[in-house]
Amino acid sequence: MLEIKVLTLFPEMVQAMLASSILGRAAAQGQVRYAVTDIRDFAVDKHRTVDDTPYGGGAGMILMAPCVVDAVEAVRTSPSAPVLLTSPQGERLDEALVLELLADAQRAGELILVCGHYKGVDERACEILAMREISIGDYVLSGGELPALVIVDALVRRIEGVLNDAASAASDSFTVDRDGGLDCPWYTKPPVYRDLTVPEVLLSGHHGKIETWRREQARRRTCERRPDLLREPGHENARRR
Ligand code: SAH
Repeated sequence: MLEIKVLTLFPEMVQAMLASSILGRAAAQGQVRYAVTDIRDFAVDKHRTVDDTPYGGGAGMILMAPCVVDAVEAVRTSPSAPVLLTSPQGERLDEALVLELLADAQRAGELILVCGHYKGVDERACEILAMREISIGDYVLSGGELPALVIVDALVRRIEGVLNDAASAASDSFTVDRDGGLDCPWYTKPPVYRDLTVPEVLLSGHHGKIETWRREQARRRTCERRPDLLREPGHENARRR
């Protein structure tokens, strides 16, 4: 069982998401266990201060190193557990990195995620904990809670048995079945909606033809929308970062 430990100043934000939908079900099924820790519990003074102004001046507050380091050291049980820091300056998350992080976490049985806040985290905390910085994209959010949840969701849905239908994950965008490209369009009932019909082949019952159509559609979409993803078939999204 994989233990995922999230360290944050806003535990209630994180807990709500971890309890819902597929993330919640994975925990209920015993495939993963979540623990959310309030970094403020590791504040060093009686006012529970966790941030201070930057040395050298400037706008914004910085999360202090001692509370972050103490919090991580208190929750970590495996010395090899990956410790991730959400940061716009980190490696950009994609499906290949998701699988790499999941494999590392599963080997250690544990994954630790630190949510930054304010202007950022004292650089010494990153150094001491050898945190791996992960970005969810080239934009800046006000805190690391949403990025941490994005990372957790992306990882947990790739744990074997978490999705009811393993084939479903394998045929999503960026996966081996999609040659690392985008997914095809999907349709469900009703067969006609506002004069729009469903592509006939999907109603034909001919599995071979349906599969060929889906592959063509997926390939076409990838060409049109994300030509940067096009490459040789048969690989998980291994676009080099
Ligand atoms: N001063 C920082 C931004 C701080 S934003 C800089 O310019 O690089 C506050 C916190 O939100 C960060 O510490 C980080 O934990 C989180 N965050 C913001 N944008 C993010 C992104 N794109 N990916 C991951 N984490 C992000």
